[in-house]
Formats: sequence, C-alpha cells, structure tokens
Amino acid sequence: MNVQSKPEKLIRGATGDWEVVIGLEVHAQVSSKSKLFSGASTEFGAEPNSHVSLVDAAMPGMLPVINAECVAQAIRTGLGLKAKINLKSVFDRKNYFYPDLPQGYQISQYKSPVVGEGEVVVDLEDGGTATVGIERVHLEQDAGKSVHDRHPTMSYVDLNRSGVALMEIVSKPDLRSAEEAKAYVAKLRSILRYLGTCDGNMEQGSLRADVNVSVRKPGEPFGTRCEIKNVNSIRFIGQAIDYEARRQIEIIEDGGKIEQETRLFDPNKGVTRSMRSKEEAHDYRYFPDPDLLPLEVTADYVAALARELPELPDDKKTRFVRDFALSAYDAGVLVAERETAEYFETVARGRDAKVAANWVINDLFGRLNKEGKDIGASPVSAERLGALLDLIADGTISGKIAKDLFEILWTEEGDPRAIVEARGMKQVTDLGAIEKVIDEIIAKNPDKVADAKTNPKAIGWFVGQVMKSSGGKASPQAVNDVLKKKLGL
Ligand code: ADP
Ligand code: MG
Repeated sequence: MNVQSKPEKLIRGATGDWEVVIGLEVHAQVSSKSKLFSGASTEFGAEPNSHVSLVDAAMPGMLPVINAECVAQAIRTGLGLKAKINLKSVFDRKNYFYPDLPQGYQISQYKSPVVGEGEVVVDLEDGGTATVGIERVHLEQDAGKSVHDRHPTMSYVDLNRSGVALMEIVSKPDLRSAEEAKAYVAKLRSILRYLGTCDGNMEQGSLRADVNVSVRKPGEPFGTRCEIKNVNSIRFIGQAIDYEARRQIEIIEDGGKIEQETRLFDPNKGVTRSMRSKEEAHDYRYFPDPDLLPLEVTADYVAALARELPELPDDKKTRFVRDFALSAYDAGVLVAERETAEYFETVARGRDAKVAANWVINDLFGRLNKEGKDIGASPVSAERLGALLDLIADGTISGKIAKDLFEILWTEEGDPRAIVEARGMKQVTDLGAIEKVIDEIIAKNPDKVADAKTNPKAIGWFVGQVMKSSGGKASPQAVNDVLKKKLGL
C-alpha cells in the first residue's frame, strides 16, 4: 500500500504541510448489448426513451432477470484487477426518490459484492509506480437522465440509460495527490479497455468518478472527507482534487471544521460546490432484493473466464522491456492502448525494436495527435511503416528521406518501395557522383578545408553541404567516408 507521505506531495499551508488523501469510486458502464436486468439495448445516443423495456420503466409486476454477460464482465474485471472473486454475491435495493429513477430504488450490491479486494499498479510521471488497493467492485443499475434544457418550465426524463449495467470500482484511500489519482484512472481505464469490459469513453459518460478527498497533517488519522460526484474527465478529476484540498486546508486553518458532504465540480469555474450533506448507508434502507436470488457462480466458471483473459498492460510492458529491450517509459507509452501495442508489435517483429518504438512514439503518435486521430484511423498501417523501416535498414533511403516518405504515405496509398522507386527517392550510394560533389565543395572552400584539418568536428559542415546539394539523398555513411579520405583525416 502506498501510504507513506512523500515530502514532494505535501501541500504547504499557513500552519505547515498538509497531506491530501483520496479514494475514488469509479462508475464504469459494462460493455454489453443489453441492460443488467432487461433485454433493452444499451446503444448510446439513441432517440430518447427508445431503449426502454417495461422492466426499465418499472411497470408494475415486471421482474428483473440477470444478464449473464454482465456478470461475466464484472468477473473479468475483478480478475484483471487481481481481485478476489466472490462465488456468492447478493443484489440489494438501494432506496431513494428521484425523478429519473422510476423504481424508487436502484438494484445494487451492498454487503456482498461480486468482486472483493484487489489492486492496480499505477505508472507515475517520474517513471516510478504506486500500488493502489481496490476495496471492491459491485454491479448496479444506472438511473435515467433528467433533461432540463428542452422546455422553459418542465423537465423531461430519458430512460434509455435506466437499467444499464454499471460496475462501481471502489479504491482504498491510497492516493496522495491529484497526479496519482489521474494516473490511477488512466491505468484503470486502460485495463478495462484491454479486458473489453468497459469502453472507457468519458465524454459519453461510460466512465465517471466520485472523488473522495480529505486532508490531514502527515502522520495524523484521516480527516473528514467530501465526495465530489460524477467527475467525467481525467483533467477535471485533477482540478477538483487540487481545489478541494486547498478549500479544506483553508477552512481548517481558519479554525473551522470539514462537514462531510457531497459536492459538485464546476469545470467552467474550476471550483467545487456543496450539493447536499452526505447521506449515510442507513438513509438508503438497503435490503436484499426479493425479486432476485443470490448470485452464485462456480470456481470452474471463474477459472474458464480467467483462461480467456487477454495479456494485460502490466504483463505486456514487462514483456516489451524484456523482449524488445525498450525503456520502461517507452514500453509504458506503447502498452497504454491495446491497439497501439499491437501496431507496435507488428512493426517491431523481425526489425530493430528501438527504431520501431521511436517511429511509433515520435512520428506516428505526433502525426495522429496533430490530426486528433486514433491509431485505428492511421493512414499509415503497421505493415507500411514496417516497409519504410526496411528501406532505411537496407540502405535504400536515408533517415531524412524516410521522414519525407512517411509524409507521402500519410496522404497516398501504395507500396512504400514502389513509391521510392517511382519518385527517385533512393539514396545515392554511387561514390563517383558523391566524389564529384565533394570535390567541388572542397575547391570552393579552402578556408573550411584548413579548418577541418585542425578541428575534425568541422567535417560536419561539409557533410551538411553535400547532403544539401544532393537533396538529402546522399548516403551519410558514404559521404563521411569519402570526405575523410579527401580531407586526409
Ligand atoms: P460511501 O459508500 O459512503 O461513499 P465508502 O466507505 O464506500 O463510503 O468509501 C467511499 C470512498 O471513499 C472509497 O473510495 C474510500 O477509499 C474513500 N475514503 C474513505 N475515507 C476517506 C478519507 N478519509 N479521505 C478520502 N477518501 C476516503
Ligand atoms: Mg460513495
């Protein structure tokens, strides 16, 4: 557990240093075609109230029927978080009144969740890692949505989301800075995407976090926390924590006391605002849902799901470092998304992996970022980038020309080698041609020649001139060799 206070993470207040303590409840929408207890579609962005079964609308006498795929997804998630899978779990009713909750209760899991304690290894910016404890993962229904901006005096209710399966992933209060919390959510999202159990799309609300924040003097017991509800971007999570920690420190330093409450983050103003005082578990009058039997799965079933899990980011990273001799940092960047890792492996297989990593991380990612594209939409496929690397490796093109070729591949289809042929981009290795250029440059620049004799580094100037006059196509190796000979170095 990551509980020690590192000095660089402390926040300076008027009365000394403070430590921020954070625990996250992440709501992750389960990837499944239909809802947790009904056959209605979970498709995003549909016409309001077009994906609502009688169960989701809580019509009298309708009974929930558990969706086995949602259970499998929660168990896969638990396995991916190295967590204990509970073979028996219980669905409870969490009672509260809200216009977008037609049942008057949410079916959730309270005392007996499907997944128990686990952990997530978080990659930090300084290259280090921190292990964050998972308290539990439970399955629950999402509520509907109130729509307030369609009518001047009335609110509408859209029940498309009502009954969609959510996994609530509860962390232990192990996080100690906004940066750690952001890295934790990023890593969690990466794991969920690898598992295929949640698409992690924060803009569409598939992943959102309730952020619990408290502050204390290092070494003291935990302070009273506030819970910031439904934060839906990683950046906002960081901003909300920083603001909230400062707010709490100021109150305590002014002699006040933190009230446990639920707050909202306003992304426009960058502040948190009180929403309501915190409700306690007893306010929800939890009790086991009499319409549902306890959920029981066998150890064999769990083992079968475990066998089918894909290789997860941590294992992939270890393998990339080991098999491709990449730095932990580069490997971490490449494995963050499954598609990126697969792309890289296709390029690197049978080639110089470090060169491949550089091209993928710098050139490809740079270009994709510039255009706001995902790797799946890259006009340069892994096969074509691999072919480009082969052209450099066998001396057909220079590294400089390769950059031009990459640009061409970005906008044009076709085989890279054929493009190089057709456009005359081949590297000039013909010594006769290179010698001719060099002779001319030497003849014109006797001062530089004298210079190079006393200062061998000055040869760089000649290399630059030759490359320039050859349009970057001269082989740098050949140029260097000929120059050294001609200058008598
Ligand atoms: P509830 O369900 O009432 O919100 P939980 O005990 O399930 O309460 O805790 C919710 C979250 O709050 C967990 O992620 C936990 O790590 C975090 N948490 C608990 N105590 C603190 C604290 N003092 N400071 C910050 N986070 C906390
Ligand atoms: Mg809570």
